This record gives sequence, C-alpha cells and structure tokens, in this order.
Amino acid sequence: MGDRKAIFITGGGSGIGRAIAHLFGQRGWFVGVGDIDTAGMQQTLAGIGNGYTYAHKLDVRDRAAWDTALDAFATAAGGRIDVVVNNAGIPLGGSLSDNSTEEIDRCIDINLKGVLYGAQAALPWLQKTAPGSCLLNIASAAGIYGTSGASVYSATKFGVRGATEALDAEWAELGIGVRSLCPGFIDTPLLEHAPNQQSNEAIRDRVRAAGLEITPVERVAEAAWEAVHGDKLHTLVGQTARRLAFGARWMPGRV
Ligand code: NAD
Repeated sequence: MGDRKAIFITGGGSGIGRAIAHLFGQRGWFVGVGDIDTAGMQQTLAGIGNGYTYAHKLDVRDRAAWDTALDAFATAAGGRIDVVVNNAGIPLGGSLSDNSTEEIDRCIDINLKGVLYGAQAALPWLQKTAPGSCLLNIASAAGIYGTSGASVYSATKFGVRGATEALDAEWAELGIGVRSLCPGFIDTPLLEHAPNQQSNEAIRDRVRAAGLEITPVERVAEAAWEAVHGDKLHTLVGQTARRLAFGARWMPGRV
C-alpha cells in the first residue's frame, strides 16, 4: 500500500467538490474525482497539477460503475483509499405538486441513492485503511431544517444525514468514521437553481440585506475560500453549527 493518503470525491468537477479536491491536493494527498462532467474534472485536476490525481467518469446512480471507479482509483493511488466524499448532488425547487415524477426520481436517485451506493462501494476500501478512514457525505442546511419550496431536496438531505448517523454507528467497530457536512449558501453553479430560482447575485443581495438573521457569516460563502482558509473545512462546519442557533429564524422563503 502506498504512503500517500488518497481521497475520492464525487461531483469533483465543480463547486464544493472542486474546492475539497484542491484543498487535499495542496496537502499532498492523492486526489481522485468522479463526475459526469469530464471537462469539469479536468479543470479541477489542472488546478492541482502535481501528478497525483485521477479522474473517472462516474454517474453515482450506477451501482456497478461505483465499483469500477473505486477499483481503478485505488489502483492508481497505490492500493488505498482513505476518504470517500459523497458530494455529487442536484437541487430541485418548486412546490411538490409542480415537481414531475421524473424530477422527483432523479433528485432522490442522485442525492440519496447515489450516497448509499457510494457507501456500499467504499466500505471494503475504507476497511483496508481503517482505523482513521472516513466517509464524508455532503448534506445541506436543508437537511437540518425543512426548506419551503424544496421538499424533495430537503427529504434527500435529511435522508443523507440519517444514513450517515446509522452508518457511523454501524462502522464504528471497524474504525471507520462517517460524517455529514451541512453547508449553507455556497456560491456555486448549483445556487442558480436554488428553490427561489434567483441568480447567485440576487441571493447574495438578499443575504447582505438580511445579514445575520439568515446567515451567520453575513455573506454567501465561497467554496474555494472556505476550503483553503477553513482548517479542515471548519468554516463550513462552523457555519452549520452556528446555523443551528440561527435556524429558527432561517427560512429560505424569507431570504
Ligand atoms: P455544483 O453544481 O457546483 O456541483 C455538483 C457536481 O455534481 C457537478 O460537477 C455535477 O456534474 C455533478 N453531478 C451531478 N449529477 C451527478 C451524477 N449523477 N453523478 C456524478 N456527478 C454528478 O454544486 P455544489 O454547490 O458544489 O454542490 C455539491 C454538493 O453540496 C451537493 O450535494 C449539494 O446538494 C450540496 N450543497 C450545496 C450548497 C450550495 O449552496 N451550493 C448548499 C448545501 C449543500
């Protein structure tokens, strides 16, 4: 098994996944990304540029493809995977009655089933590097508080948190940690499709206007900035922790 620790991140071709990839690349880890967006992945890896990188076209809804992707990544990374990040996800806004069955299925398939498939595929690899290996699932503040205008998205993120807690208990004896991260507003392409269908700039304006009432950091966070300056992503986590205190007042409908 190689000496260099290895992390595999889904949805690594954009936004938060890219920021996590860059952070771990800067820290000398072997970084693998899986995404349906090949060009996005190449852009992510170009930002690391040290040769210890790997990209695999992966649709997280495809259970068999997960095994192929992790096998290939582990081989490239010297036979090990220390951390798997289930980050790929899509938004779904609108009232439930307006959501089509296709939209509902797609959101659940990517955001929730994709995470469960990823956990299944990751287990044998994380067992190999335990104790100390970790599965990180990117949930959302919408997985802590039901978000009006995004019931399906919220349901998937609550589900991700539930699976995280169950797996953390189940895998504890194996020495594998399972955690979820619940970001608030992060300035990525995903926000353009947020429930209220506003542009990132419009969301930023409303966050600025509402200030502390809706976001503890008084701004829409930048994924890259938070990842690089927030030691071990603590800014993102901290934002979530503090959001618990502000949560009662935080309703996207008021943003
Ligand atoms: P993003 O749109 O910038 O990136 C998402 C990536 O996932 C894209 O590269 C996309 O190609 C990929 N993807 C989509 N479907 C896929 C599939 N079936 N298989 C593999 N990859 C797929 O979004 P982001 O803001 O970086 O979001 C990352 C995660 O963070 C998501 O799970 C999202 O729900 C969560 N999140 C984002 C915010 C925010 O404000 N941006 C807030 C809370 C949670």
